[in-house]
Amino acid sequence: MAKVKGTVVVNTERCKGCNLCVEACPSDVLELNPREVNNKGYHFVYMKNPDDCIGCANCGMVCPDGCLTIYKVKIS
Ligand code: SF4
Ligand code: SF4
Repeated sequence: MAKVKGTVVVNTERCKGCNLCVEACPSDVLELNPREVNNKGYHFVYMKNPDDCIGCANCGMVCPDGCLTIYKVKIS
């Protein structure tokens, strides 16, 4: 059976750094960027451990602002 990997695209300008997606991720993939901020001054989310993403979409479901788009890729 093919394995599934995921990747997350963040709308960094919409993110308000609420951390909900970071806490919802079962694989510890996401983190708030400790240095950079967006135009509104929020530390936005990025993929700290992109290889660990399983594409479960938990992060996208909890984001109150719809900032996250999850893509699933099959790898053999
Ligand atoms: S899709 Fe799942 S594994 Fe990937 S970052 Fe979101 S919550 Fe974590
Ligand atoms: S849940 Fe949405 S707004 Fe909150 S930190 Fe994650 S991406 Fe940003």
